[in-house]
Amino acid sequence: MQFKRSEHLFKEAENVILGGVNSPSRSYKGVGGGSPVFMKKGSGSRFIDEDDNEYIDYLAAYGPIITGHAHPHITKAIQDAAADGVLYGTPTIHENHFAEKLRTAIPSLERVRFVNSGTEAVMTTIRVARGYTGRNKVIKFAGCYHGHSDLVLVAAGSGPATLGSPDSAGVTKNIAAEVITVPFNNLAAFEDAMTQWQDDIACVLVEPIVGNFGIVEPAPGFLEAVNQITHDAGALVVYDEVITAFRFTYGGAQDLLGVKPDLTAMGKIIGGGLPIGAYGGRKDIMESVAPLGPTYQAGTMSGNPASIRSGIACLEVLETPGTYEELDRLGAKLEDGIQQAIEQYQIPAVINRLKGAMTLYFDVTEVTHYDDADRSNGEKFGRFFKMMLQEGINLAPSKFEAWFLTTAHTDDDIDATIAAVHRVFSSGEFA
Ligand code: PMP
Repeated sequence: MQFKRSEHLFKEAENVILGGVNSPSRSYKGVGGGSPVFMKKGSGSRFIDEDDNEYIDYLAAYGPIITGHAHPHITKAIQDAAADGVLYGTPTIHENHFAEKLRTAIPSLERVRFVNSGTEAVMTTIRVARGYTGRNKVIKFAGCYHGHSDLVLVAAGSGPATLGSPDSAGVTKNIAAEVITVPFNNLAAFEDAMTQWQDDIACVLVEPIVGNFGIVEPAPGFLEAVNQITHDAGALVVYDEVITAFRFTYGGAQDLLGVKPDLTAMGKIIGGGLPIGAYGGRKDIMESVAPLGPTYQAGTMSGNPASIRSGIACLEVLETPGTYEELDRLGAKLEDGIQQAIEQYQIPAVINRLKGAMTLYFDVTEVTHYDDADRSNGEKFGRFFKMMLQEGINLAPSKFEAWFLTTAHTDDDIDATIAAVHRVFSSGEFA
């Protein structure tokens, strides 16, 4: 496979776009460098790059594209929205419909507000929690990524961890001091932090199923205990469901796991691929936000009709009976196939999978918190990534990211992917 045009376009991009990419996780720095592939067209589970190479896609744009590329129902919704004018600066009926649809699926969203990205959604839930409780500090879990607002760029996973800056420059010491980081799935560490700071903890920020140092599930009882301890201390529980909302079930991870936060931040899937974020939760807390209350949050682009109609269309596709069972079936088939290859070629690697999302880690035996994922072999993953790309399989260029299945993936896609993994592992470079 040749990438000549992508290489040329990347050089061109580097002269005008910072680092050649508009989000750092798109660079190949975390997989040994090189020019990222420039995609020009996506359709279903596949896309085609500028050199006309075809790929099976497991990036799914870092999660949002759960119905595959250019799903006709979503494409039509976006076309219809464009024809009606893309931005009004007034309320629309679509926002009512969508908010109601979200609340039906995720009942803890007693009131909802639409914003434009996951970053905005999380950033605002923190402000709301601080405003409501009159407290300052936030507890987060190491290696979780909650967007790029100042407060959460401390011990951040995903892109910041991949690129070696989990604690971003430019975040002042005073801001960093407001964030307490504890290991995921470690209740004793969480309790210690809560005991030490409890009178000043505004909220605990949780990815209820982690997606940002790979897919990592909470240990049984962990989220329930976090809820109890947090509420006992008079603080709020905020779930960051930017990845997880509508990824594992028609609803949030909270609905799948039977746990309930006070506030929830969402993004990605709920826009059907267009920019969106949303936050919501308990009515009494949400009513502290303007225009009803003193905590301010606003947005010229918020609730724009194109994103809202695209999001509604995406959820309509996901409502189809059997959607999540099928994602799980294909996920299990992919996991089993790769696991067989791991055993056949004696590759030291482990897979974490939940339904239609998984991560493959090299040179560790289990991953339950960030340090495990951090210890996994990034150099091997980088080689695996590049060899899979040559095989026509597009993964996220980081050992910390997930593989995402879509409703457009087929048994043939999975078979082809497993066959590619066999060829790559049989090279002898991974044992
Ligand atoms: N929270 C989580 C859990 C995320 O995975 C991400 C993005 N990967 C964000 C927040 C930030 O969302 P966005 O990139 O839309 O700002």
